Amino acid sequence: MVSTRIGRLELSPTLRITAKARAMKAEGIDVIDFSVGEPDFPTPSAIKEAGKKAIDDNFTKYTASDGIPELKEAIRVRIREDHGVEYQKNEIIVSAGAKQCIYNALVAILEQDDEVIIPSPYWVSYPQQVLMCDGKPVYIHTREENGFRLTPDELRANLNFNTRAVVINNPSNPTGSAYTKDQLMELCEIAVNEGLWIIADEIYEKVIYDGFKFCSIASLGDKIKNKTILVNGLSKSYSMTGWRLGYAAGPREIVAAMNIVQSHTISNATSISQKAAVEALSGHQSEINQMVAQFQSRRNYMLNKIRRIPDVNCYEPQGAFYLYPNFSAYYNTEYGGMKIRNSYGLSYYLLKEAAVAVVPGIAFGSDENIRFSYATSMEKIEEGTDRVIEAMAKLKESPKYKKATLQNVMTYPRKTVEAKTDISVDERDALVQEAEAALPYDRYFEWNANINGIIIQLRTNDPHLYDFWVENWYPAQLESDLEPHGIIYAVTGVAGRQPYAYYNPDMKTGVIFNSTYYGQVRSWALAIAAHASERMLDVHGIRSACVDIKGSGLILIGPKGLKRGSTFVRLLDDDDAKFVSNDWVFVRYRGTDAIADAPERKFYFKTNIAKNFPRYARIFDRSKCENVVTTRADWTNTKDLADETPLDFGEPYCYWGSDDSRAMIDPAWINGPNRVIKRSKIRSVVFLAHEPNAPAIEKLSPEAALELVTTGKYRLPEGAGISPYKSQPFFNPYRLVTNVDEEDLQRRNFHQLFRVTKVFRINTAAVPSEALKARVRDAIG
Ligand code: PMP
Repeated sequence: MVSTRIGRLELSPTLRITAKARAMKAEGIDVIDFSVGEPDFPTPSAIKEAGKKAIDDNFTKYTASDGIPELKEAIRVRIREDHGVEYQKNEIIVSAGAKQCIYNALVAILEQDDEVIIPSPYWVSYPQQVLMCDGKPVYIHTREENGFRLTPDELRANLNFNTRAVVINNPSNPTGSAYTKDQLMELCEIAVNEGLWIIADEIYEKVIYDGFKFCSIASLGDKIKNKTILVNGLSKSYSMTGWRLGYAAGPREIVAAMNIVQSHTISNATSISQKAAVEALSGHQSEINQMVAQFQSRRNYMLNKIRRIPDVNCYEPQGAFYLYPNFSAYYNTEYGGMKIRNSYGLSYYLLKEAAVAVVPGIAFGSDENIRFSYATSMEKIEEGTDRVIEAMAKLKESPKYKKATLQNVMTYPRKTVEAKTDISVDERDALVQEAEAALPYDRYFEWNANINGIIIQLRTNDPHLYDFWVENWYPAQLESDLEPHGIIYAVTGVAGRQPYAYYNPDMKTGVIFNSTYYGQVRSWALAIAAHASERMLDVHGIRSACVDIKGSGLILIGPKGLKRGSTFVRLLDDDDAKFVSNDWVFVRYRGTDAIADAPERKFYFKTNIAKNFPRYARIFDRSKCENVVTTRADWTNTKDLADETPLDFGEPYCYWGSDDSRAMIDPAWINGPNRVIKRSKIRSVVFLAHEPNAPAIEKLSPEAALELVTTGKYRLPEGAGISPYKSQPFFNPYRLVTNVDEEDLQRRNFHQLFRVTKVFRINTAAVPSEALKARVRDAIG
């Protein structure tokens, strides 16, 4: 398991679109790439020569961690010449890119839960880096009519005791907007008066248009300079992204702290790049102007073209090399089966339909926009914008997307917790006392379930568990002086306890601490009820799906992963099939009859079957759900669409984003009430088993079936021996009591079942899952 810190982070959607674009290019498709974040010009040759010379001079060893003195001097001079600001050498640090500088700075200044103000749209890495430092990104959504600039009022309104820093990216990636000196002064004075750090990311300072006058925050006077961490780098101005070279300047103690972080992470920026950077910063600066002149004419051209698309607004940037048009007028359109609901969907559409790669605005915190980079040749820009215009013209309005409301609870944890199932009576008494003490009188729920005549009581303080419990079971009429057969405590918010569960078999008491996951409560209720009913009522609890076909019951048993669920659902598709139970039945043996009853009123269904059986989604929509995935962070299904989910395209939730999501469904909603029965006379039993060397289907004698159910192994045809491959005991892995006595009873009960039914084993290694149903029907006749 990765840390919770990593769990909070996200791979940028930028990368997902870029990866797809790359895959398309590899297939020979001529993709025009407007997603790039770096100049398309070569690194100027004098800089490359300086790098080569460093290699020839064997300048290829560790350097001082904060950078070589001559580079720090070159940075000092550069800042003085460009902005008239004086820094000392110990106020400067060289790093592997501006990105590394920002990270070092955040590690150096942030305490846990410190807030960092990030004007949005923002460059993708700011919030992620703040999260890596256990800080809290606070977004302020800037408005296009304000030129995407943070206003003094907006800044003031978002300050509080925990605010520690503000990030100002000038000019901005992705919007290209830049601040005037006066605008900066007003903001920075507020920040400094509040004692905040100003992280000034000025990496695009040289990429400025129409004579806009760039102003560095460091030049706004000593008071502001003393609270500013100035960040810059060579990636953009000198076309040196791959050289990984950036620098920061700031107060001595902060730079020293950043150097500590650096010395223990990357040691130093690459020695060769440092030598090349000396040349870049001290040599001729004229190539920058030529590059910027080209960017300017591309910007003008692209802006013009994009603004011609009906209903698209595009802000005219003063700097950087991106356009950030607003495409939201096109959300709720479609073409060729592709529905556009958000920026990811539109970017995906442009990639597929126009073979143009752009970056969805959501990556920068605003879903209405798309980022177009013009760091590519004029011919590509001409061709690419033509393609975009053409693709946009194809989009037709689609029916307004109705957001279904999902009744869903995300539990903590999402799965069964570890358990000790043989605690002593003394331990049980102590745990019950602890659980009772944690049940507040004003938040205490108790309800008796009747599980085939066995009464199990739930005592809980969790409304979700109570809610599912009441939906799941038939109620028990219980006189006040009668004791339930079993009790489950499910108590959350118990201090000093990890999620954990305990069971005492003598008193049939379960105690589950600090888990709100219903699956375990249900599974324990059934296990306790089965155990009690086998001993008291001579009724056998079997974990299996059960359908009734033309009056004959079929029990379908299969371990996890062997398609029992989908086979069951396919069996229900036939008009002559009725739903009995999806997971457990309680069976009475009377003479030659085996009569199965369904113990549940509503059924706890895995929602991931909606992937292959979409009509179930409509049933789940009407049902109460647990752990249905609504955010990308909760997505755990790695089998399907590992890098892209329906959530990315604007779906509010997805039933198959996780194997752990369930719905509490009324089976009458599947095929109507006439196709549900509570009781069925069992005539056949089908085991699903996986065995590469076995025949597709085999009829089992009662003895062979007993062997299979006991050991999970089964006899193969003559001479083939016994293979333990993927075998599991079918004796229900959910039993709470496992001992010799119990095993004996199970053996006797199953033997009864096999004596009065036809038993088959169907080999899932030899039958594709879609054909399992037909095989089952063939077998049972
Ligand atoms: N800040 C901004 C606003 C950027 O756009 C980028 C690069 N995309 C960086 C910092 C990081 O640059 P570097 O290559 O110097 O790490």
